[in-house]
Amino acid sequence: MSLAAALLAGPSAAQRRAIAKAITLLESTRPDHRLQADALLTELLPHTGKSFRLGISGVPGVGKSTFIEALGLFLIERGHRVAVLAVDPSSSLSGGAILGDKTRMERLSMDERAFIRPSPSSGTLGGVADKTREAMLVCEAAGFDIVIVETVGVGQSETAVAGMTDMYVLLQLPNAGDDLQAIKKGVMELADLVVINKADLDWAAATRAQAQIGSSLRNYGHSGRQASHPHVLQVSALKSTGLAEFWAAVDLYRQEQVTSGGLEAKRRAQAQDWMWERIHSGLRQQFADAPAVRALLPEITAQVLQGQLAASTAARQLLNRFLETFKHA
Ligand code: GDP
Repeated sequence: MSLAAALLAGPSAAQRRAIAKAITLLESTRPDHRLQADALLTELLPHTGKSFRLGISGVPGVGKSTFIEALGLFLIERGHRVAVLAVDPSSSLSGGAILGDKTRMERLSMDERAFIRPSPSSGTLGGVADKTREAMLVCEAAGFDIVIVETVGVGQSETAVAGMTDMYVLLQLPNAGDDLQAIKKGVMELADLVVINKADLDWAAATRAQAQIGSSLRNYGHSGRQASHPHVLQVSALKSTGLAEFWAAVDLYRQEQVTSGGLEAKRRAQAQDWMWERIHSGLRQQFADAPAVRALLPEITAQVLQGQLAASTAARQLLNRFLETFKHA
């Protein structure tokens, strides 16, 4: 059976192996693997897009893995199949803030209705996000109807994850409201829903945080959200409380997005942005690798640093040299 056929054949041990194999193929840097991966994606694409894509982020220790495991268990009990992927651009350095070890989400990872994959571990954020988007398509084709993409607040990873999901949820701690400066404004603006986790530690503080974050979201003038949404919720991932309310809020958001056509428009825009992001990244790589550019770069850089050449003139000279290599080819 082909890899695509095994992926599309429905839940089984063989399908799980096929998913793992497909994702490994997507993550490979070998050119022949890339060709196979592209052929596979093209074959799978008509079977993708039917899941709900949920992005979840928050600082290390806020309780992402505890929350995702509790949510995942809650969802599979209700008949869903849940895939959990991660975008952790720091993973190639220190092992990452999102650990890929076996002890994470132990109960969820043992359940055959769930599939958990750690972050791709190499390359730039763009590369890591690219692989995760592709892995998401594989999971969708395999029939997972909820795909959760987890990320930490490192670099631009939140923006990358918000750009590949239907809804972006930010986890906060109960004391977050005391120090709103600590919450990056840009990240707040991305959030479709803010969840205060560990409310069991201090319900009163969590309620205060809920009010403070709620009012600051209004101050930020967050757009694109319907008035009926709860902007901020409280949960305890550890005690699995608040999950039903959380899921109800997600469901409401999803229904409104589907009905208004917002979801479809968002996905189309995301696909187009993704294409351009990959074009830019591919061009940058080719530019950096081109021998003619590499030969000229040290000298031109030195001239810019010494103030002998304007940066824009330098860029034009390098780009012209890059383009000349195509004329002679
Ligand atoms: P992550 O780094 O964001 O994935 O955070 P973890 O899920 O690993 O959680 C960090 C710590 O917080 C662990 O010791 C968890 O047991 C604890 N934790 C997570 N959620 C809760 C919660 O709702 N209440 C309490 N009291 N502790 C929690």
